[in-house]
Amino acid sequence: MIDLPADHDAVRKYLCDDAPDARLMTVKLGQSKDDMLDHQKMPTPIKTLCAELVAATCVLAHMLKFDGEMIVQIKGAGPVNMMVAECSSKGRIRATAQWDDIGHYTTFSELIGKGYMAVTVDPKQGERYQGIVPLESGSIEGCINHYFDSSEQLDTKLWLSSDVATVAGLLIQRIPDEGGSRASKPSNWETLSTLAATVTKEELASDAGPLLVYKLFHELSPRSFDPFSIHFGCSCTRERSSRAIRALGETEVKQLFAEQPSVTVDCHFCGRVYQYDQADLEWLLSDQPPRSDTLQ
Ligand SMILES: [Zn+2]
Repeated sequence: MIDLPADHDAVRKYLCDDAPDARLMTVKLGQSKDDMLDHQKMPTPIKTLCAELVAATCVLAHMLKFDGEMIVQIKGAGPVNMMVAECSSKGRIRATAQWDDIGHYTTFSELIGKGYMAVTVDPKQGERYQGIVPLESGSIEGCINHYFDSSEQLDTKLWLSSDVATVAGLLIQRIPDEGGSRASKPSNWETLSTLAATVTKEELASDAGPLLVYKLFHELSPRSFDPFSIHFGCSCTRERSSRAIRALGETEVKQLFAEQPSVTVDCHFCGRVYQYDQADLEWLLSDQPPRSDTLQ
């Protein structure tokens, strides 16, 4: 008997023996989502959107073979004016948002409204790539699907679901026949798409992983690959956080340090606080690295 779990803090790929022109992916985040967001004191509706954006970013990151960061940023006209999610090719996630008072707003349209979404692939080696689409949907799921429609050559669709404990996703993508010739088996893409569309928010949130894929697609003989583990972590360093001070310019920085004994920079992603005192002023105003790049 095959072991059919729901995943935890993992993204996973699947192929179907009886739908050779398709691939599937699932993502399910629990603890890693809490580790990432709980310290940020976000109102619950923003937390939900942020978690969904991260889940989508995990899927986008895992669709590519690359070494680096996948970054998805939303700029909105509503009280949530910025939201950003990152997933590295090593499975490290982080996210944050900027918001004003949201009142009784709860939906994507109320909180974010019009704006745009930027999807950035930032490889350690090679060119950075960015695709930008306007926000023309009332959900994170809709925005990502709009991005696929505008930029992907391949038929691709994502479903997202979240509850208090979990955020989860299912992606289907049509892959071209090898070498342009007809695949030896007939396409079952239409069947697969129809089956995928029957997924409910509840079963997606609770079962995402091999369990969900088997439930939905068992007639197409799905095979799962090993899960790819996702965890929260932050790439901030003292050197990187100092750029926020340096960006103010020499005059401003000198004035700031003249007015107060030390200057602090908070990392919104992880909550770390970097403190700079008078002894740091010299290197802050130069191109030198910090005295010590250890975290405070
Ligand atoms: Zn950080």
